[in-house]
Amino acid sequence: MPNPYYSRTDTTKLNVSDAEWKKVLPEDVYYIARNKGTERPFTGKYNDFEGLGTYYCAACGNALFKSDSKFASGCGWPSFFETIRKNSVEYHTDKSHGMIRTEVLCGRCGAHLGHVFDDGPPPTHKRFCMNSIVLDFEGDKQGR
Ligand code: FE
Repeated sequence: MPNPYYSRTDTTKLNVSDAEWKKVLPEDVYYIARNKGTERPFTGKYNDFEGLGTYYCAACGNALFKSDSKFASGCGWPSFFETIRKNSVEYHTDKSHGMIRTEVLCGRCGAHLGHVFDDGPPPTHKRFCMNSIVLDFEGDKQGR
């Protein structure tokens, strides 16, 4: 079934049930986005990737990161030091697995994307540690 909620231009917040997401998302995207799963480190397609362009939420198409905020963190997941817009993502305190972490969710659809840590590079010193599976990359039009 095609995903009717996917749009790269509509920024209206979505309120879609898990059952509905299960129908329209590929199984691996559903597992990360809605069940808050984590892809195995060093396995994601964007971990070692240096393409120039934009990363979108794989569940809803919301623009999340530009490639110029991506950096080689060595942590095993694609890492960024800032989002495209302040409200591209939302934050939630995650106390699972005996840790206190800040969960990062898509600001449009609420998909779980990963976590953010305070050990990133300047100027923000943030490390948005993301799952490749919930990111959609599109390269810039003119190959620079
Ligand atoms: Fe989304």
